[in-house]
Formats: sequence, C-alpha cells, structure tokens
Amino acid sequence: MTPNSFHLAVMPGEGIGIEVMEAASAVLAAVEDRFGLSFRPETIPGGAHHYRETGATLPKNGITRAGEADAILFGAMGWPDIRYPDGTEIAPQLDLRVAYSLFAGVRPIRAIPGVRLALADERAKTIDLVIVRESTEGMFASRGKGEIIDDREARDTQVITRATTEKLTEFCCNLARRRRESRGTPGRVTLVDKANVFLSFAFMRKVFYEAAANHPDIDARHHYVDAMALDLVRRPWDFDVLPMENLFGDILSDLGAGLIGGMGFAPSADIGAANGMFQPSHGTAPDIAGRGIANPTAMILSAAMMLDWLGETRGSQAAVDAGRAIEKSVDHAFGTLGLRSHDIGGSNGTVEIGRAVAELIRSGEADPQ
Ligand code: ATP
Repeated sequence: MTPNSFHLAVMPGEGIGIEVMEAASAVLAAVEDRFGLSFRPETIPGGAHHYRETGATLPKNGITRAGEADAILFGAMGWPDIRYPDGTEIAPQLDLRVAYSLFAGVRPIRAIPGVRLALADERAKTIDLVIVRESTEGMFASRGKGEIIDDREARDTQVITRATTEKLTEFCCNLARRRRESRGTPGRVTLVDKANVFLSFAFMRKVFYEAAANHPDIDARHHYVDAMALDLVRRPWDFDVLPMENLFGDILSDLGAGLIGGMGFAPSADIGAANGMFQPSHGTAPDIAGRGIANPTAMILSAAMMLDWLGETRGSQAAVDAGRAIEKSVDHAFGTLGLRSHDIGGSNGTVEIGRAVAELIRSGEADPQ
C-alpha cells in the first residue's frame, strides 16, 4: 500500500451528521483529484435511529471495523427521544473513545476570517489555540460508577493517572512543536488545573512538569481553571496548547467555540496510541436537521485534521499539504468570497459551502503561500 492511500471508516450517523458528512465528502473528493491521494471509504451506519430499528447502536463488529481503518471520520450520533431503557443517551462515539483509548480530545479554537467573533477587540482575529481535553479519565472516570448513599449524599470520584498524564503531556509538547514549525505559534503548553485545592490536580501538575522536562524547547506553564475561564474571554489570543482534565475540557471547549462563531466552526479529533477519530464538536441538531442549512465547516475542518494526522503518522506529505489546503480554502470561502452560513445569520446552505470549499481546492486559488 502506498502512503497516499487510506482506508477510512465513515460514520455519518444521523440528523445533520449525514448532511455535513456529504459536504466533507465532496471536499475529500476534490483533495483526491488535486493531491494524488486515494481514499477507500467504508460506510458504517449507527446511532439512535439504528438502535430503534435494530436494537443495537452499531452493526455487529462495527467497533472492530472502525478500528481497522486508517482513520475514523464521524458525523454525529444521538437523538433526544431515543434512549436506552435506563434513560441514558445513545452515544457510540463514547464507546469508540473507550475501545481505542482515545485519550487526547483535540479541540482547535481558531478565528476564521470573515466570521464574526464574540470579542470586538482586534486581537481576537488572531485567536489560534488548541484545547486538549484528556478524554479517558478525570471526573468522567466516575461515569456509571457514582453512588447515592441513603438518599442523603452523592459521590463521584475523579481519577488522574501518571501514565495518562505523561501521554497527554508528551502529546501536547509534540503538538506545540509542530504548530510552532508550521504556523509560527510560540511552542507553549499550559496545563489547566485546580492544584491549589485538589490532591489529584497537584499530582497531575507534578507529573506534567516531570514529563515536560523531556522537552526543553517547549515553554511549559500552568494556569488555574477559574482564571482560565476569565482569561479565555479576556485575552484568548495569548494561549497556545492547553491540556486539561476531561470535565474542564468539556466545559472550556464550548466556551472556546463560542469565541469563534459557535459549534458550526469547532472541529475535533480524538487521538489514541494507534487510532484517530475526527468529528465536529456539535451534535445531530434535530432542530435544523433535514433542512440543508447546517454549517459543515466544523466537519470539513475535522477532515482537515484527519489528513494532517494521517500525514504525520503515516509519513504522507501530500496528506499534510491537503489538510492545510482545506483550512486555507475554508478561510478563503468565508474571508474572501464572503460566504455566510445560517448559524451566523447568512443564507449559504450545507451543500453550497461544501461545493465552494471543494472548488477552491481544485482551483488552488486559496493555496498557502
Ligand atoms: P450533543 O449533546 O449531541 O452534542 P446538543 O444537543 O448539545 O448535542 P447540538 O446538536 O450540537 O447540541 O446543537 C446545539 C444547537 O446548535 C442547536 O440549536 C443546533 O441547531 C445548533 N447547531 C449545532 N451544530 C450546528 C451546525 N453545524 N450548523 C448550524 N447549527 C448548528
């Protein structure tokens, strides 16, 4: 197999997941034409509707098949009124995260030219940070294990391990270095914690600095989570790579998406030792599903992250270049052509935005200089 041919597990899901995946597929087709890459997509259905129809959230061997692909491209799954008998939500993406120990939830928060920002300050146009949400432990380790004692008190227990904190730190230092090389960011990793109150966070900070010492070229720092909530609103342009515990990352990544135009612009990647899953930060959006008005940008940028990861881990410069070209084409579509999706008050639909980005890739008009 050539390093430019990739087997993709494509999991569109339901609701707008299906619509934004179609737009991303149009972009990937353009990438194949332009960059000499070839994708072998294997579509794996799944989600809440699949559960209602078949009694299972994914087809038999769905998790195994997804894990055998070079990468997983995921739309969105889950539906408000279709739930497990115990009332919990259908979320196969969480099962995939667990199955493949996808510990690094990478959530870039980047200002896209032309998209109105929450902050009026001119410097907001330079926002380019990455929240890395640890995704396998922290407060979420208690999921399904909490206890209520005599209807009197409730307990959930946070878990922070040395092994995962070391992996997370290693990942973030490498990410900060790559970003410094490719986009001129400062090469700074700031751990977000609450080490002044909790022993588990004091431990996390200690292990973070021990592991970061292996990367003397990286500026390792820490910041309290409450101060970070303030500073992400006051001066988000000052931050680079921000690793944090699971629940903190869950909350602050939504705040981050709010800074740059909303969930429709927030891509994500879930990375493990051998697997990567790429999906928009938003859900199935039942309120707008089926109307062709979903903003596909988060999905398209998630596909760009997938190409960057494939390029880095499989040694394909063409894939790295293609990922960069998608990002530049998205910027050009909004910043220069003036496209505006419905979620930011515009009238360009899902298909239209996908086509515009695909055409820019084919023409090379937005190529990085
Ligand atoms: P989940 O819990 O599965 O993440 P959710 O119920 O929190 O999902 P979403 O499905 O992400 O929420 O939708 C939240 C709101 O944002 C909805 O009003 C939805 O219409 C809007 N929204 C989300 N994604 C997009 C998008 N890509 N384009 C336009 N609007 C979106």
